[in-house]
Amino acid sequence: MKTESDNNQIKMIVNGLVIDHIPNDNLLKILQILRWEKITNPVAVGFNLTSNRLGKKALIKLDNGELTEQQKANVALFAHGATYNIIKQGNVVAKEKLVPHDEVRCGMVCPNIRCVSRMYKSVFIPHIENDTVYAICKYCELQFSLNDLKEFKK
Ligand SMILES: [Zn+2]
Repeated sequence: MKTESDNNQIKMIVNGLVIDHIPNDNLLKILQILRWEKITNPVAVGFNLTSNRLGKKALIKLDNGELTEQQKANVALFAHGATYNIIKQGNVVAKEKLVPHDEVRCGMVCPNIRCVSRMYKSVFIPHIENDTVYAICKYCELQFSLNDLKEFKK
């Protein structure tokens, strides 16, 4: 049975980070990029939350953790315009909008089965059209919906 303090642990972060305004559909990809199976700190995930801009949004709260600049840039491909908040002692001490880099090596692989980059981790160039982000493979130059990218597995 959940107690009151269990619930509070999910709601409140004293130190850590909150990534908010994540497009609902991209949540799982972001958890893959962050290698969720290797994270040992408490993580709270919300989805189907109401958002004026997105309709439905997701968010991730990570206790006592920060992302590297590289991780942030990789997450940004799937969370363009999301806010990245650093929480210290219960207060937001830093807030930034996530913007993908010009080239993203996020551990995802090109969906084109004939693409040479499938043997390695593919490199994608973000392409934004009507507020939707697409990924152009740097090698085969085809454009894909973010949903079509798959996690790289040896
Ligand atoms: Zn490709």
